[in-house]
Amino acid sequence: MSDSKFDRRRFIKSTLLGAISLPALAPDLTHAAPVNLTENDPTAQALGYHENAGKVDGKLFPTYKPTQKCSNCIQLQAGSGDHHPCNLFPGKLVNVNGWCKVWVQKT
Ligand code: SF4
Repeated sequence: MSDSKFDRRRFIKSTLLGAISLPALAPDLTHAAPVNLTENDPTAQALGYHENAGKVDGKLFPTYKPTQKCSNCIQLQAGSGDHHPCNLFPGKLVNVNGWCKVWVQKT
Protein backbone atom coordinates (compact mmCIF):
# COMPACT_ATOMS: atom_id res chain seq x y z
CA MET A 1 0.00 0.00 0.00
CA SER A 2 1.36 3.39 -0.93
CA ASP A 3 1.81 6.09 1.68
CA SER A 4 -0.83 8.31 0.05
CA LYS A 5 -3.49 5.57 0.33
CA PHE A 6 -2.55 4.98 3.93
CA ASP A 7 -2.71 8.71 4.71
CA ARG A 8 -6.09 9.01 2.98
CA ARG A 9 -7.51 6.10 4.97
CA ARG A 10 -6.15 7.49 8.19
CA PHE A 11 -7.57 10.91 7.36
CA ILE A 12 -11.04 9.51 6.58
CA LYS A 13 -11.02 7.34 9.68
CA SER A 14 -10.04 10.21 11.98
CA THR A 15 -12.60 12.54 10.34
CA LEU A 16 -15.41 10.02 10.80
CA LEU A 17 -14.44 9.38 14.41
CA GLY A 18 -14.36 13.13 15.01
CA ALA A 19 -17.81 13.59 13.47
CA ILE A 20 -19.22 10.78 15.54
CA SER A 21 -17.81 12.13 18.79
CA LEU A 22 -18.96 15.76 18.21
CA PRO A 23 -22.56 15.21 19.39
CA ALA A 24 -21.20 13.82 22.62
CA LEU A 25 -19.43 17.13 23.25
CA ALA A 26 -22.38 19.35 22.30
CA PRO A 27 -24.53 20.68 25.14
CA ASP A 28 -27.69 18.68 25.70
CA LEU A 29 -30.34 21.30 24.97
CA THR A 30 -33.20 18.87 25.56
CA HIS A 31 -32.49 18.96 29.27
CA ALA A 32 -31.69 22.67 29.59
CA ALA A 33 -33.96 24.40 32.08
CA PRO A 34 -36.48 26.61 30.27
CA VAL A 35 -36.19 30.34 30.84
CA ASN A 36 -38.90 32.97 30.91
CA LEU A 37 -39.54 34.56 27.52
CA THR A 38 -38.87 38.28 27.43
CA GLU A 39 -40.40 40.87 25.14
CA ASN A 40 -36.91 41.60 23.80
CA ASP A 41 -36.56 38.11 22.34
CA PRO A 42 -36.51 38.48 18.49
CA THR A 43 -39.25 35.86 17.99
CA ALA A 44 -41.32 37.41 20.76
CA GLN A 45 -41.01 40.80 19.08
CA ALA A 46 -41.99 39.35 15.70
CA LEU A 47 -45.13 37.87 17.25
CA GLY A 48 -45.97 40.91 19.37
CA TYR A 49 -45.57 39.02 22.63
CA HIS A 50 -46.50 41.03 25.72
CA GLU A 51 -45.82 39.71 29.22
CA ASN A 52 -48.98 41.50 30.34
CA ALA A 53 -51.93 41.24 27.97
CA GLY A 54 -53.47 44.27 29.64
CA LYS A 55 -50.73 46.43 28.10
CA VAL A 56 -51.39 45.42 24.49
CA ASP A 57 -52.11 48.45 22.31
CA GLY A 58 -55.25 47.60 20.36
CA LYS A 59 -54.30 50.10 17.67
CA LEU A 60 -51.00 48.33 17.00
CA PHE A 61 -52.57 44.87 17.37
CA PRO A 62 -56.14 45.13 16.07
CA THR A 63 -56.83 41.39 16.51
CA TYR A 64 -56.35 41.71 20.27
CA LYS A 65 -59.42 41.46 22.51
CA PRO A 66 -59.27 42.15 26.27
CA THR A 67 -60.41 38.58 27.07
CA GLN A 68 -57.42 37.05 25.25
CA LYS A 69 -54.39 35.93 27.21
CA CYS A 70 -51.98 33.01 27.23
CA SER A 71 -53.98 31.15 29.89
CA ASN A 72 -56.89 30.70 27.46
CA CYS A 73 -54.79 30.12 24.32
CA ILE A 74 -54.65 26.70 22.72
CA GLN A 75 -50.85 26.92 22.42
CA LEU A 76 -50.21 27.07 26.16
CA GLN A 77 -49.01 23.83 27.70
CA ALA A 78 -49.58 22.51 31.17
CA GLY A 79 -47.28 23.84 33.85
CA SER A 80 -47.22 25.32 37.29
CA GLY A 81 -46.92 28.86 38.51
CA ASP A 82 -47.37 31.94 36.36
CA HIS A 83 -45.04 30.88 33.51
CA HIS A 84 -45.79 27.87 31.30
CA PRO A 85 -44.34 26.38 28.11
CA CYS A 86 -45.89 27.53 24.82
CA ASN A 87 -45.75 25.53 21.60
CA LEU A 88 -44.47 28.58 19.71
CA PHE A 89 -41.49 29.26 21.94
CA PRO A 90 -39.59 26.00 22.54
CA GLY A 91 -37.34 26.12 25.60
CA LYS A 92 -39.05 29.25 26.93
CA LEU A 93 -41.87 29.90 29.38
CA VAL A 94 -44.53 32.50 28.70
CA ASN A 95 -46.48 34.46 31.27
CA VAL A 96 -50.00 33.02 31.66
CA ASN A 97 -51.24 36.64 31.64
CA GLY A 98 -49.31 37.42 28.46
CA TRP A 99 -50.43 37.55 24.85
CA CYS A 100 -49.12 37.40 21.30
CA LYS A 101 -50.76 37.85 17.91
CA VAL A 102 -50.89 34.08 17.32
CA TRP A 103 -53.41 33.68 20.13
CA VAL A 104 -56.14 31.08 19.41
CA GLN A 105 -59.02 30.29 21.74
CA LYS A 106 -58.51 27.13 23.79
CA THR A 107 -61.45 24.78 23.19
FE1 SF4 B 1 -49.42 33.12 24.65
FE2 SF4 B 1 -50.77 31.70 22.85
FE3 SF4 B 1 -48.98 33.50 22.05
FE4 SF4 B 1 -48.17 31.26 23.23
S1 SF4 B 1 -49.22 31.43 21.24
S2 SF4 B 1 -47.43 33.35 23.66
S3 SF4 B 1 -49.79 30.92 24.72
S4 SF4 B 1 -50.90 33.91 23.15
